Amino acid sequence: MSKSIPNRNRSVETIVTHSGRPDPRDTPFVNTPVVRASTVLFENLAATKNPGTKYVYGRRGTPTSEALTDVLSELEGAAGTLVTPSGLAAVSIALLSVLSTGDHLLMTDSAYGPTRLFCEGVLKRYGVETTYYDPLIGADIAGLIRPNTRAVFMESPGSLTFEVQDVPAIVAAAKARGLVTLIDNTWATPVYFKPLAHGIDIALMAGTKYVVGHSDAMIGTIACAESVWAAVKRTYGDMGMFTGPDDMYLALRGLRTMPVRLARHFESALTVARWLEQRPEVARVLHPALPSDPGHAIWKRDFGGASGLFAFELQPVAHERIAAMIDGLELFGIGYSWGGFESLVTLVDLKGIRTASAAPTRPVVRLHVGLEDPADLIADLDAGFSRLAGG
Ligand SMILES: *Cc1c(COP(=O)(O)O)cnc(C)c1O
Repeated sequence: MSKSIPNRNRSVETIVTHSGRPDPRDTPFVNTPVVRASTVLFENLAATKNPGTKYVYGRRGTPTSEALTDVLSELEGAAGTLVTPSGLAAVSIALLSVLSTGDHLLMTDSAYGPTRLFCEGVLKRYGVETTYYDPLIGADIAGLIRPNTRAVFMESPGSLTFEVQDVPAIVAAAKARGLVTLIDNTWATPVYFKPLAHGIDIALMAGTKYVVGHSDAMIGTIACAESVWAAVKRTYGDMGMFTGPDDMYLALRGLRTMPVRLARHFESALTVARWLEQRPEVARVLHPALPSDPGHAIWKRDFGGASGLFAFELQPVAHERIAAMIDGLELFGIGYSWGGFESLVTLVDLKGIRTASAAPTRPVVRLHVGLEDPADLIADLDAGFSRLAGG
């Protein structure tokens, strides 16, 4: 379908514009259509047994799924990519693909909350033990590796408190012991951080966020290095995974503009973060692109940019005042998820999800800076600080 896969050296903007498009010799239309399929008809009985037959059944792949995974594989530099009905399904399928009963998993303490619940629920029930590690552990992860340790899971930066992990150090320690490495790369996307180029075996994204980019669909992505591709594909198939054609199409459409949107999210979020840093009500801004952030040096070394999601700690203040500040915001919606065109705000709750590392004790407000004019967002937050003060 795509003519473009062999060239791995194109920039991300060019990849998302040209990859996963139909061959103009087949159709004059720019876009791959939404193919709705369960049954695929064969020419004759022999074709049902021919391993070269391209499409066999809806769940096994369609031109729509193939266009989406072609773009993702080229962006990620992956041997193969699979899409799931949500980001959390990408996490669970990837972990189930590489772990077996009796195995031990090393999981970052900064992981997305439901990822942790999956470890404590399904994985525990099937006899996989999880140890949570300090996200800032770096090369010292070697000290936590046991004879039965099978995999190391990273998320950098953490999507609530934004610790930047020393991925090269962790990957080197894991590789020395033959472990599989996985990362939840939802925040940076392959536009700003390329996990497979850093030696990671499996790069996951909640495509729900920046891939879709418009808060109107849910999807997950699992990009695999050659080392794990067969195992992940097998588990994905055995679990009956597939994704609805409209959602796959929305993800493909979102990818076309993802680098352009991310550049604006990056710039606007940094503008807002710098403004927050000057506010007396703010104790600390948690944004790795700020030179004051403890993760800044590693971020600068490993990442090509930052997205629109970051947080700040308030000076200790009564909860009602924080509620007055947040409830009155006009441009920031109160809601989970992020990565859409619109700005969002949440009050971070770390209760029960930190066991191996220190978490902020002051109130943490998380912002997703959308595509509005940052001056308008700053004015909205400025009015919020007046309410915080009781004005
Ligand atoms: C949202 C999110 C997920 C889960 O994605 P869903 O599509 O909501 O299931 C996983 N990891 C991170 C970091 C997320 O922010």
